[in-house]
Parts: sequence; C-alpha cells; structure tokens
Amino acid sequence: MAKVVIKECDSYRIEEVTTAINQGMDHIGGWDAFVKPGMTVLLKINLITPRGPESAAITHTEFVRAITRILREKGCTVWIGDSSGGAIAGTAPTARSFIVSGLKQMAEEEGAIIKNFDLEGVEAVQVDNPFVSEMYLAKPVFQADLVINLPKLKTHSAAMFTGAVKNIFGLVPGLKKADYHRVAPSPTDFGHVIASIHQVTDIGLHIMDGIVAMQGEGPTAGTPYPANKILISTDPLALDTIAVAMMGLGIDDVPILAVARDKGLGKSRPTELSLLGDYETPPRFKGFRLPRYIRRLRLPSYGFVSAALRFLKTRPQINLEICRHCNMCVESCPVHVIDKATKQIDYTQCIECMCCHELCEHQAVELRKDYRLAEIMLKLYGARKR
Ligand code: SF4
Ligand code: SF4
Repeated sequence: MAKVVIKECDSYRIEEVTTAINQGMDHIGGWDAFVKPGMTVLLKINLITPRGPESAAITHTEFVRAITRILREKGCTVWIGDSSGGAIAGTAPTARSFIVSGLKQMAEEEGAIIKNFDLEGVEAVQVDNPFVSEMYLAKPVFQADLVINLPKLKTHSAAMFTGAVKNIFGLVPGLKKADYHRVAPSPTDFGHVIASIHQVTDIGLHIMDGIVAMQGEGPTAGTPYPANKILISTDPLALDTIAVAMMGLGIDDVPILAVARDKGLGKSRPTELSLLGDYETPPRFKGFRLPRYIRRLRLPSYGFVSAALRFLKTRPQINLEICRHCNMCVESCPVHVIDKATKQIDYTQCIECMCCHELCEHQAVELRKDYRLAEIMLKLYGARKR
C-alpha cells in the first residue's frame, strides 16, 4: 500500500507552507523517519528554464525555502540542485535560472548550497531500455545521504503531465538531455528513459508544489492555476496518480506514467493507494485546462481522413512577431531542424519532441490553432490516444 498525503495550502507564505508540509509529513512517520542531524540532503527542484516563481513553471522559491529551513533546523546540510533545459551559445541556462528564480539568493539567506548539475560532474550508469544503454547523471544525486524530489504540478504539451516521475529527468546535465530526446522522441519511448533513471537512483521522498499549478500548454507556456495543494509520498507513481486524478485524468492518459506502472516503479491501482491528509478521495480541479495534446493520437487508417488529421495535428510554429531571436530553440532542437535565419521548421525532419515550445522563454513557439477541427474529426472517425 502506497501512502499519498494531500494537504491544502493556499499561499506561499512560509509559515503556511511549513505548517502544511510538517503536518503532511506526520502522516508518513514524520521528518525524523527520513533525516538525522549531520545528513546531506539534496533537494531536486524543477528549474526548467530561467523564469520567476510567479510563472508557475518552476518549483516556487518560497516552497523550497520552507523545506530548506526545516532541514537546516534539523541539522542537515542542504543542497539545491537541477539542470535547466535548452542551450544558448552552447551551454545550458542553469546558472541564470538559479539567479532569475531567486533561488540563488534564497540559498544564501538560508545557508543552503546551490548545485548546478551542469558543473558538478557526472556518473556513468548502465541502464536497461531499448533506446540507451548508458546514461550520464549528475554526481550529487549519488553523493547526498537523502534525495528529496520537489516537482511542480504542471501540464505538459507533449507528455500531458509532468510531476514526480518526470521531474527526475533534470538529473541529466546540460545538453545531454537533447540526446535522450532524440533517441526516444515519443512520450512512451521517453517514458522508458525516465523509468531507467528511477531504477538507478534512490529518491527517498517526493513533495509536490501544487499550490499554484500550471494549466494549458505547460510545462512553461501555460498559465498559473491556484490548485492550493501539496502532495507528499515516498512513491512517485502513486503521487502522480493522485495528481492526475485531480486533473481529471488516469495514468493511461499520461504515457510516461503508464510506462512507469508497467516497469513496476510504484503503485497506481486504487486498491494499492492510501490517501491521507485533508482528503479521502482526490478532489477534482474545477475549470482546469488540459493541454491540446492532439499530436499524440493514434490515427485511423482511412485514407484522406488520416492524411487530413496528420495535417491538422499540433505542431510547433514560431511567431516571428514575438520571437526575440535568442536562438534557444535553434540550439536546443535535438535534430537541428529550425533554420537560424528564418526560424522556419523543417516538418519533414521534426520529431515532435516540443522542446522548442518548452524552452522558449518568450512563448514565441506556438502550437497550431486548428486542433478543434482535428478533435471533431477524431471523434467522428474513432482515433484513440496512445
Ligand atoms: S522562438 Fe523563442 S527560443 Fe526561438 S529564437 Fe525566438 S525567442 Fe528564442
Ligand atoms: S522543431 Fe521543435 S518539436 Fe521539432 S524536433 Fe526541433 S525542438 Fe523538437
């Protein structure tokens, strides 16, 4: 039986966050079941891109502060680590992300240590999946006495949802992430890569920042949604199962979670989950917007219908009126199909990973607007999600 705790919390005021987390931890044995004085604890945050905490794209700085302060008061050394996605001028923007987010300053104020995973060295680990046999992961995850995963509750335009299971991809430093996107571009294939990371690491605890979640075209271009929830579990799949249920989804709607279930990474069946804290059943978010997600559909094979749907499927387009020509998308595209001068995308080579959409800091990479017609056609002709 996997325990998942849901606690209500409607602001990032440190007292409220601290109280909610401490009360939540009491349901799974309390902090003392996890930490002792003198331990080094790595907080694996979500710092996907250089954005402020108000964007809802990253684990909120005050959320990280609350947990840092709790751990410091318990006599722990606290490391705060991640590697941001994308590249500008050949390097990942992680250092800038730590500054823009306010996390660098917060760490200084609270006596924590920033671990920029792009600069900390890597461990080569052997993995067992159809796409890659050896992976490189940031060393701090193997050096800390305890790793606590701090995902953000967000939609994801390519993967539908990103939470505790997927957040672990940030253990891959810098530009190496693009290699894994290239060899496993579909959400299902990518799920195998994510599962491999969980299999070779030891993440002791997962605490999700769902106070202000992201809805719509996440993980960076969506809008904030006041979900007012903190979720806690030692089981990342169990936690995500409850999180997506609040969004109105099952884990078969989220290919990465379906793979995690099939690989035995955690519990997901209702009879295997014990919900604790403020709810006995997962509450549903009202008016929460899901991503369009039309591109990941299993298309029917009826000649012109299939061709029309392929044409209508969501794909990225760069809005030149918004684009600042920073070239983040150009340098981050795993298969290098975005023309640097014109910002045109070669759709014959595009692998639909949506990294460009995910990593543009200016929301200039838009998804096609004609998805509604495609959805109607899909209903009419019985296409199914995969
Ligand atoms: S689309 Fe975005 S990431 Fe790409 S060059 Fe323009 S502003 Fe930069
Ligand atoms: S153009 Fe965008 S969606 Fe297509 S492969 Fe490149 S980064 Fe991925």
